[in-house]
Amino acid sequence: MDKATRGCVEKPDWLGMDPESVAADLKRHFALTLGRDEVGESHHYLYTALALTVRDRLVERWRATRDRYRDENPKRIAYLSLEFLMGRALSNAALNLDMEPVVREALQQYGCDLEALVEEEMDAGLGNGGLGRLAACFLDSCASLDLPVTGYGLRYEYGMFHQIVRNGYQVESPDNWLRNGNPWEIESPENTCRVQFFGDTEYYQDDNGTERARWVATSDVLAVPYDVPVPGYRNGTVNTLRLWKSEATDEFNLDEFNAGSYTDAVAAKNLAEQITMVLYPNDASENGKALRLRQQYFLSSASLQDVLRRWVRHNGRDFSQFAEKNGFQLNDTHPTVAVPELMRLLMDEYLLSWGQAWEITTQTMAYTNHTLLPEALECWPVGLFRELLPRLLDIIFEINARFLAEVAEHYPGDVDRQRRMSIIQEGDHPQVRMAYLAIVGSFSVNGVAVLHTELLKSGLFRDFCELWPEKFNNKTNGVTPRRWLAHCNPGLRDLLSETIGDDWVADLDALERLKPLADDAAFRARWRDVKRDAKVRLAELVARKCDVQFDPDMMFDVQVKRIHEYKRQLLNVLHVIHLYDRIRRGDTEGLQPRCVLIGGKAAPGYAMAKTIIKLIGNVAETVNRDPRCRPWLRVAFLPDYKVSFMERICPAADLSEQTSTAGKEASGTGNMKFMMNGALTIGTLDGANIEILEAVGQDNFFLFGLDASEVQETRKHYDPDAIISGDRDFERVMQLIESGHFNLLEPGIFDSVSASIRSPHDAWMTAADFRSYVDAQRRVDRVYRDTELWSCKSILNTACSGRFSSDRTIRAYERDIWNKPKE
Ligand SMILES: *Cc1c(COP(=O)(O)O)cnc(C)c1O
Repeated sequence: MDKATRGCVEKPDWLGMDPESVAADLKRHFALTLGRDEVGESHHYLYTALALTVRDRLVERWRATRDRYRDENPKRIAYLSLEFLMGRALSNAALNLDMEPVVREALQQYGCDLEALVEEEMDAGLGNGGLGRLAACFLDSCASLDLPVTGYGLRYEYGMFHQIVRNGYQVESPDNWLRNGNPWEIESPENTCRVQFFGDTEYYQDDNGTERARWVATSDVLAVPYDVPVPGYRNGTVNTLRLWKSEATDEFNLDEFNAGSYTDAVAAKNLAEQITMVLYPNDASENGKALRLRQQYFLSSASLQDVLRRWVRHNGRDFSQFAEKNGFQLNDTHPTVAVPELMRLLMDEYLLSWGQAWEITTQTMAYTNHTLLPEALECWPVGLFRELLPRLLDIIFEINARFLAEVAEHYPGDVDRQRRMSIIQEGDHPQVRMAYLAIVGSFSVNGVAVLHTELLKSGLFRDFCELWPEKFNNKTNGVTPRRWLAHCNPGLRDLLSETIGDDWVADLDALERLKPLADDAAFRARWRDVKRDAKVRLAELVARKCDVQFDPDMMFDVQVKRIHEYKRQLLNVLHVIHLYDRIRRGDTEGLQPRCVLIGGKAAPGYAMAKTIIKLIGNVAETVNRDPRCRPWLRVAFLPDYKVSFMERICPAADLSEQTSTAGKEASGTGNMKFMMNGALTIGTLDGANIEILEAVGQDNFFLFGLDASEVQETRKHYDPDAIISGDRDFERVMQLIESGHFNLLEPGIFDSVSASIRSPHDAWMTAADFRSYVDAQRRVDRVYRDTELWSCKSILNTACSGRFSSDRTIRAYERDIWNKPKE
């Protein structure tokens, strides 16, 4: 059957997609599955009944997809990731199954609209930020492109913490997202795996007299899979996200049990169950906790066992075709222990030789790097590995010995190079360098934007690129146009589909057809109406969450992302203070009224990031309180930034702030969501900003700041004090901060902020880009005041955003990595 028709042809015995069938199922689930009589105050049961009604239809297509993959026997890819930031599932499933109108009709008899029910669903926040959201966008694209890709992750009991702001400070509150049940998961206990920890390696001779190893005297933990359906866009495909939950084995702590302390033994189950208890809330930094390594190994081992078990079920112990039919994509170094684990499983469990196992491993593993920040490069102490995963450490040592022999052969006598490239960093506290292990064990290493990949090749991984240039490739990130345009911006979706047809949802390059409409005044007026409606909706959220009134007739200037010094929310704050200073001085000539929205979570242990949140809050207070500012400037910090908030935010933004220090942001994906929804970007030449600029052109992008090589060059003689004293505006901004103007009753709390700006060692070089940023913001004001000109540029941003669809990204993974032609 061809791809276009499969989604439309429904099996005769499948559940109906008509309003009557959907309404009947909704009623049945409400009354019988959930045992409810009346809808009542809370809409929660109605939400659950609707979710189950939609899920039933997903399950039919899920099973059909499974059957089809079994019959067609395509190459399968396992996408291994410690994070999947999925957000809500109901409206996404309704969109992809084309059930939205039918669901609305079925809901009428309950006097409840779909929008209200959708709000009942908790975000599945099993990720920190960009990396986890990328995994979620990729799953949507793989299903929509009908690719047999399975996501493998962890079913954290507690996802990303909820951020509460108290007196301007971030306070973390646990995300008990499973409390009210999760209708989107199906437990699959028959596919439980056993994951080993601790113990020792034992060597023995097998029946053929071959020397073999086995891992003995281990403490085992069960990995129980929970499957989440991943629907493609109107193509009948439903793929799987398999999330592992850790559980104690029944023989757990048998010794204690036998010693008579039954209750102690049962209580000790906690140790096993801790593994998937909580997501580590660190974006772009690792903290070396043993529990985190346990999570990594738990995911890697269970997922590989799952793939190998299915292989053996269908092929017996013949692995000769395994690498042609399987691939593993490692989402950052987090699941890199999969490299030695695949070796162990193939050698110790399936009795392959080292050579056979290494061939398979290095033909199936592919590694995606996500960061250039040195503090985010994972290293694990050798001692920790030896205790927790002794058999894996043996294998890592052997991989390293063979690898270093290869290096020595390539570069005879170059011992420094061997030391540099060693997977084991020697010294008093030897460490396993996970990124090097990932490179050595993979056939593909990719960065996530053109600049990022080039910097990897010339910097961090230079030695490896010299040795194996063919391994390195770029795959610029993307975002799914289903969630990030069709679902989150219904007003724009309808305008686009009415104007250029609706094929853009599955083929985003079709947005090019918008280009001529940028010159059509009537279309521009409709474009503005759509944007204004979205701004009204966002203003409601801001009023509710921040108690700040945003005026939809002002410009919406938005920066939402994790709070990190490299992303330079500080630069944004400095500009806000500069505007405040101008307004107070009466210097409002040419000033465009704006509402500045900033949001994002700080890692709980990241003091500077938390201080920046406090500064944003205090500046917002001061500005919003001052009646002179009211016509010109309003500022809000939105607490608890998450996927469902971004769905409200990106349709409403006029200006997208992408201010990272050049060379630090690997790609960014928030930048793409904003562009797709018609925001203009003010940004540095960093990550995918560069490609956005190239796609939309200089005239439709506000570029500022040093580029990556200028940043390197300027470091050598960086003198922020001189920059500040040479710039009247900057001096006044620093004066306001340092005089305690924003913290009159809280003396000294921002000293660390001004010190970091003034430090010649400021790694993020905030002061270096202040002037250029302020000037770019002046250009923003000038253009925005020309309403027609701005609308034109806004339309062109959407029109040129086609290449930032994750469908484009996934096609490239498929072509160059997963289906890489054999040389
Ligand atoms: C897209 C997204 C991100 C990534 O944003 P960047 O600006 O690329 O850092 C982070 N968090 C959420 C909730 C997102 O939707």
